[in-house]
Formats: sequence, C-alpha cells, structure tokens
Amino acid sequence: MTFLYHIDHDLGAPEVLRRMGLPEDHKYKAKVASLLEELLPQVRPKVFYCQKKVALNDGETVVIDGVDFHSRTLAKSLDGVTEVYPFLATAGRELIPYLQTSRMLDKMIIDTIMELILNRSLMAFTDKLVNGFPHEKHLVQVNPGSLVGWDIEEQQQLFKLYGGANEAMKVYLTEKSVMDPVKSVSGLMFAADGAFETCELCQRADCPTRRAEFDPALFEKMIST
Ligand code: SF4
Repeated sequence: MTFLYHIDHDLGAPEVLRRMGLPEDHKYKAKVASLLEELLPQVRPKVFYCQKKVALNDGETVVIDGVDFHSRTLAKSLDGVTEVYPFLATAGRELIPYLQTSRMLDKMIIDTIMELILNRSLMAFTDKLVNGFPHEKHLVQVNPGSLVGWDIEEQQQLFKLYGGANEAMKVYLTEKSVMDPVKSVSGLMFAADGAFETCELCQRADCPTRRAEFDPALFEKMIST
C-alpha cells in the first residue's frame, strides 16, 4: 500500500483562468489570485494505490484479490493483464465548506481549483507508476461509472480492494456509490499494449473533460456481444 500526501498543488491564477476557458489577463484574475492565496495553504490532497493480481478473467467476470467485478467491458479492457493498481485520489475535504457557502463566481473558481488539484494528485501517482513500466507499455485507467458497461455500483466492490485506505483518506461512498467528497477519483490502472481512454467508448456530448474522441469501431468491439 502506498500513500502520497505531499503533492505539489502550487497553482497560479493563469492556470485556473485557462481551465475556466478565460484569458490569463481576465478581470477575474485578482479574484482568483486572492482565493488561491487564502485556500491553497488549507488543501491536503491525497493519493492511495496498491498492486493486485488478476486471479480470473473469463470475459464476463473479473476477480481481483478475491473481489468479483461483473462487466464485460472491464473484462475486455483487462484481456491479458495480470496485474492492476487500484487507486484513490482526492483533492480533500478542506475546501468543501467554501463550495457550499460561497457566491456563484467563487464557487466556479473553487470548483476549478479543486479539479486542478485532483489532476495534480493523479499526475503525481501516474508519473511514479509509468516510470516502473516497460517502455512499450501504455498506462490505462478505468473507472466504474466512467467506463461504459462498468456500472457505478461496482464502486462498492472496488472500495473493498482498498483495505480501509479510503477511511484514512476520509473518502466515502454514498448509498448511490458516489464519492464523498466530490473531486475524488477511484479506479484501476494497468499497463497495456495499446493506448486506451474510456472517453473512446463514451458518447456524452459536450463533455468539458473529454480526453479522446468517441471511437464507434472500438465501441462495437468492446460493447457488442
Ligand atoms: S467523455 Fe467525459 S464523461 Fe465520457 S468518459 Fe470521457 S471524461 Fe468521462
């Protein structure tokens, strides 16, 4: 089990403004800078990951460390994969009260700050992981509720792989299998022969965080029976 607690989250106003789709010299710059100065010292982003063996993959069910996952898409994604890295990353709970009580503009800025901090947390983890992979391998990430055909309810199974680490990080699942706090991400990472993004199977229009175009041929291959 590995925890990362010291994650660089020294953001600047230009980065936040760019993420909001605004020019770096936008009139909100002073507001963003002031919020960053107030909030960044309070934030405690965290990452947890571990290494687990895939004990079974029969094309319908995947068993990892005694925990069953039922998703044909997950099974196809993990075809030939013997080791996975269950992970959990969070921007933390510290800014949640500000999100709940601030004005709309402040909310938008704080939401963006938390999203960027979460991205930094993921990068801190993936950089470490990729360094240990053979050159020809690609890092692939899959998440319940994000990978088409892997239901969000399987978060409950995924959290069993964490062995209580989520409690140390104060990240919990609601009855609907949504993570509390928001700006947390959970899933599996693994080394694969080819690059793959879950967005290639997702048909959601106008997603602001899309990382790859929808691929109809891949969708047909992964989703069809
Ligand atoms: S397109 Fe958006 S919603 Fe769909 S998988 Fe990618 S990031 Fe998630």
